[in-house]
Amino acid sequence: MSVSHEYNELASFLEYKSVFEIHYDDMIDIVVEVQRLTDEDMVDFLYSGLENNGFDNKYEIIKGFFLDDKVSYTLLERFDLTWLVDDTELNGFTFPVDAVSDRERIKKQILTSELNKIRTIEVTKSERVPSKLFTDDDRRKYALEKYRPINSNGHFCQMCKEQKREKYIEVNAIEYEPKYAWRQMHLCFCLKCSKDFESLRNNKQNQTYSKFIAAMLNATVNNNVPNAVAIGNKQIYFTATHLAEVQEILKRQRDLEQEELQKGR
Ligand SMILES: [Zn+2]
Repeated sequence: MSVSHEYNELASFLEYKSVFEIHYDDMIDIVVEVQRLTDEDMVDFLYSGLENNGFDNKYEIIKGFFLDDKVSYTLLERFDLTWLVDDTELNGFTFPVDAVSDRERIKKQILTSELNKIRTIEVTKSERVPSKLFTDDDRRKYALEKYRPINSNGHFCQMCKEQKREKYIEVNAIEYEPKYAWRQMHLCFCLKCSKDFESLRNNKQNQTYSKFIAAMLNATVNNNVPNAVAIGNKQIYFTATHLAEVQEILKRQRDLEQEELQKGR
């Protein structure tokens, strides 16, 4: 790995754990000095690091350099990255709203669906991984389709509301430790927002997670615009139907928990 000295310095100045966490906006001082990115720079951003995954925000960084005219289109072509900047096929679509036509039907559907408890497998003593999540491809498809407008090849990120092709979309579980395998309990994000979401969801401080769950439950479903729900300092946008489904599931789970508590007495 040959990440230049100044990036490392910058990262430690910003108190990041490692250089790989820096964002394009952090680099302003470096960017003005850079004439053009070289192949070597591209390789660093894309493939450096222990697992060769490159910088966490590599796509944001490379797109930033392109927009500031420091990366040529030809260079993007060489690294198969033109999708970053020309998504003409994805233009002209708006974030789906998917109005709720029959709330009672959604409620009934959730109340009568079979409860699939997630089996957990021990990976290490401290890490329990829901095994179901590795095998259930249904959840990914469900989230992807909800956020793909008809006739479009792209899927909307529920955080930045940008459209991306499927291979640049990540599907995340809404819940930190889901008990049941609901395909509706997943969100559709671009790669960057997926990371942002995970760190907010997994953050046990400031009650970010419990506030997010409460915000989804208490939101008033609007049938005319994408429904925004706050998580930390970010917003997540839902279609009306998706938010209604999530609310009914959260309510059912809450009721089940209550029942269990009563039984335990
Ligand atoms: Zn996004």
